[in-house]
Amino acid sequence: MIIVIKDKATDNQVNELMNWLEGFRVKTNLVTGVHSRIIGLIGDTTSIDVDAVNAREIVETVKRVQEPYKKANRRFHPDDTVIEVRGRKIGGGSLSVIAGPCSVETEDQLMRTAIAVKEAGADFLRGGAFKPRTSPYAFQGLGKEGIDLLIKTRNETGLPIVTEIMDVSDIDLFADIDVIQVGARNMQNFTLLKALGRSDKPILLKRGLSATMQELLMSAEYIMSEGNSKVILCERGIRTYEPETRNTLDLSAVPLLRQKTHLPLVIDPSHATGVNSLVEPMSLAAVAAGADALEIEVHIDPKNAWSDGAQSLTPEQFKASMEKIRKLEKFVKTEL
Ligand code: PEP
Ligand code: MN
Repeated sequence: MIIVIKDKATDNQVNELMNWLEGFRVKTNLVTGVHSRIIGLIGDTTSIDVDAVNAREIVETVKRVQEPYKKANRRFHPDDTVIEVRGRKIGGGSLSVIAGPCSVETEDQLMRTAIAVKEAGADFLRGGAFKPRTSPYAFQGLGKEGIDLLIKTRNETGLPIVTEIMDVSDIDLFADIDVIQVGARNMQNFTLLKALGRSDKPILLKRGLSATMQELLMSAEYIMSEGNSKVILCERGIRTYEPETRNTLDLSAVPLLRQKTHLPLVIDPSHATGVNSLVEPMSLAAVAAGADALEIEVHIDPKNAWSDGAQSLTPEQFKASMEKIRKLEKFVKTEL
């Protein structure tokens, strides 16, 4: 961290600031130039709040030269993290596909979707039992009944299950879930993140609707700093001024986050676009960009889906997309 001091600051004020900073167990190095004085901080500055430093009367500007996240940082963990779930790997070179309905609706709907996505080559089954809906009058999910149906379907099809937790008080219901999803709206629910950090489950953490990549990484850090290093990051579109799509898929997140972190990266083209016809092209683009996994919504009858029908693929569309996805995966892995 580099701190530029205002010209008018007295030596006493500068010393007082340096003493305060050293309280964070970092070394300070005062450089006195012809026109200005600069304090350089050496050591772990993660616990220092840039805004608090900036608020000091004698501080002109502050610049972080090191990222505020440690455990998620590739700098301290150069190798890709690979997360194993029931014999399947997320990260480290292979492409995993998570597919299934937005919401768990009925046993028949979930089972038929699971069988279809498995046949098409999906690796995981997704389905929401707790749904974060914009309207309180919209279907809110089956809750515990939905969790039970997911477990039953997993036990019959062998597909590991991914489902979203919304409230920390529900955590015990997720004891037999394979991957716990934290939705975009909860990316900064720090109480929830810390509680999940104390579990040993893989956590699929979705980027918030208007979160920066650094904020996403700091949320991952919340989970990891409590001891759980099994975090998977998911870009699911961010809110922009463009109304043609539900969100705007920030595909540059894949190569950019790849540089910054060792954690596996998932793209969700369904919530990113909100449009059925855009899911396949954006899935292919995500594979080309080097994503570790895709999360795709599939419904046996999208027109009558209880949530997100407009962006859900039919099993036939999913099968056709999977053929292209696997072909492109092969090409990307072998030819590039
Ligand atoms: C979902 O995956 O069903 C979901 C609600 O996603 P997001 O949190 O990205 O909106
Ligand atoms: Mn959905």
